[in-house]
Amino acid sequence: MTDPAIGDAFDSMWAALAPVGREASSGGYRRFAWTAADAQAREWFTSEAQARGLDVQRDRNGNLWAWWLPPGGRDHDALVTGSHLDSVPDGGAFDGPLGVVSALCAIDLLRARGIKGRKPVAVVVFADEEGARFGVACAGSRLLTGVLSPARALALTDADGVSLDDAMRKAGIDTAALGRDDELLRRIGVFVELHVEQGRSLVDSESAIGVATGIWPHGRWRFSFTGRADHAGTTQLDDRRDPMLCFGEAVLAARVQAEQFGGLATFGRVIAEPNATNGIASKVTAWLDARAPDQRTLDRIVIGVAERAGRRASMEQVESAVGNESVTPAVEFSPKVRLMLQDSLGGGVPELATGAGHDAGVLAAEVPTGMLFVRNPTGISHAPDEFAERADCLAGVEALADVMADWICA
Ligand SMILES: [Zn+2]
Repeated sequence: MTDPAIGDAFDSMWAALAPVGREASSGGYRRFAWTAADAQAREWFTSEAQARGLDVQRDRNGNLWAWWLPPGGRDHDALVTGSHLDSVPDGGAFDGPLGVVSALCAIDLLRARGIKGRKPVAVVVFADEEGARFGVACAGSRLLTGVLSPARALALTDADGVSLDDAMRKAGIDTAALGRDDELLRRIGVFVELHVEQGRSLVDSESAIGVATGIWPHGRWRFSFTGRADHAGTTQLDDRRDPMLCFGEAVLAARVQAEQFGGLATFGRVIAEPNATNGIASKVTAWLDARAPDQRTLDRIVIGVAERAGRRASMEQVESAVGNESVTPAVEFSPKVRLMLQDSLGGGVPELATGAGHDAGVLAAEVPTGMLFVRNPTGISHAPDEFAERADCLAGVEALADVMADWICA
């Protein structure tokens, strides 16, 4: 049974964060990187961490770190935990914040239990995880590890043409100092990200907590279909060169391919030009998000969608092109960390892979990394209905505290 004071701390942090960046019309969150809402969430974190006597530092890439250092000043071999506070458009309350709030609560719990370790703990808030504003996910952790070059990052622009360079400068960051940070990476002994589950595996296994095995390879592809604009009321069907038909074919093909090969394929974003109700479109651009258990399956899904859309395009006399925008290879979390998490949690915790990207996936290439998932009763995520029961959240805090205690006392 968790200390009631920890439940209170969880509730009060959750309540303080709840209105930040919340969109009244949808009930979802719009905490985009380097906006006022993002700044407010980061300030909230800084004051919560400082209230606990943690040493809060902003790294060169804009990520926030709150250090709980043991007496004696040992500053490496740290257990780092945490997540992110930014969101997708109209995202849920749990994706990101649950990992941050749980990390602070876990420190409270260790202190309440009188546990003093020999190794440090750090709670990290990675900047710009969702990539909702500038298009590159996990920008903060990718800059930290050097996977994303400062030059490429700074040139990214948002929908209004504001560059990431300008946005970060406005937030007070010296963008000339961006880039891989070896000194900081060397301090990390292990990284454990706690995250709300973004599927229903834990519901089916009747467990509040899961351990991640890895992340599916995934990527984004841009499909463009160029036809000919014309009048919707006067152009004969045979005379049309309608790119929307090819887009429709691509959407259905994505579903068929995903079902056939056991992956996921989604068109969630589309731009029709000129976007008139009474006009045949001249051009349709759409983005395919595809994910699969392995790279070969992912390739087969995307090739299948491109082929079917391409066949339709030649039937309709429409030009089609497919370009890859990003691919994130499969991630396997450290088997040692998986074992360590199982040990700390008493064993028998269900293990699952996920199709969602995380900062933990980026960190896994650098330091021993693992993830804990907290049950999501509907599996809904990246939407206002994303949810986790309070009791499950507190079970997550407890799990994280147990993992922390074992690490820092070892
Ligand atoms: Zn997340």
